[in-house]
Amino acid sequence: MERSVRALARILGGGVRTLIEAALPVACAACGARLVAAEDLPLCADCAASAVEAGPAFCLSCARERRTPRACARRDHLALRAGFTWNEPLRALVHAFKFGGAVELAAPLVDAVLDTAAFAGRPVPDAIVPAPLHRIRRRERGYDQAEALARAFATRTGGPLVRGLERVRSTRQQARLEAAARATNLAGAFRPAVAGADALAGRHVALVDDVVTTGATVHAARDALVAAGAQSVEAWCVAYEPLE
Ligand SMILES: [Zn+2]
Ligand SMILES: [Zn+2]
Repeated sequence: MERSVRALARILGGGVRTLIEAALPVACAACGARLVAAEDLPLCADCAASAVEAGPAFCLSCARERRTPRACARRDHLALRAGFTWNEPLRALVHAFKFGGAVELAAPLVDAVLDTAAFAGRPVPDAIVPAPLHRIRRRERGYDQAEALARAFATRTGGPLVRGLERVRSTRQQARLEAAARATNLAGAFRPAVAGADALAGRHVALVDDVVTTGATVHAARDALVAAGAQSVEAWCVAYEPLE
C-alpha cells in the first residue's frame, strides 16, 4: 500500500508528493520501528548507534591478497576510504537506496560517510568519478546509485563530478559469483568515457561505488582511469564487506 502511494506521489511530482509523504508513517529502515522525528536517514536512534565505522583508509589491494592493508605505499595498489562496515543498519539503508528507489538517501548517506574516520583529512580530489552501471541496468533501475553518491560527494566536498567511465559490458550479477570469478567477470568491464577524457589526464581521482566487497569492480574501474591518464586513484564507498 505504502509503495503504491509513493509511486503515485512520484508521478504527481513536487508539492503533492511532499504532502503525501508528510502524511505517511516513517519507519526505521533497519528494524521497522516508527520514527517519532523526521531524520535525514530513516533510522531509529538504536539502529543509528549500531552502525560500525570501517576505520581509517587502507590498501584494498593488500587486503585482497590478505596482507596487512594499513601500511602500503605501492603506487599500483588501490587505497579505499569506506565509511562503514557492511552490517545492519547499512545493509537496510543501502538496500532501500539501491533497490527501493530511495535515491534521495544519497545525500544523507554521504553526509554520514564524510563524518567517519576514513574521511578525516581527506584531500579534495580533482575529479569525483562514479563506477557506473551499464546503461541497460541504469534504464531498468531509473538511476545509477554510484552516480547519485558521486554527485553528493561532489556537492559536499567541492570536487567536480566527472562521468569519466562507461561500463562496456552488462556483467552478470556479482553476488552470485565467487571472488576469483568476480575479477574475471569484471576485467575490461569499464572504459574511459569520451566526454570525460580531458578531465582525467594527470588528475587525482576519487572513484565512487556504493559497496565494496572483493574490490573487483573498483579495481577494474581504476584500471580504466589509469588508462585514461589519471595521476592517482583512490576508491570511496559507503560500506565495505571484508573477505571472509
Ligand atoms: Zn531501528
Ligand atoms: Zn597495498
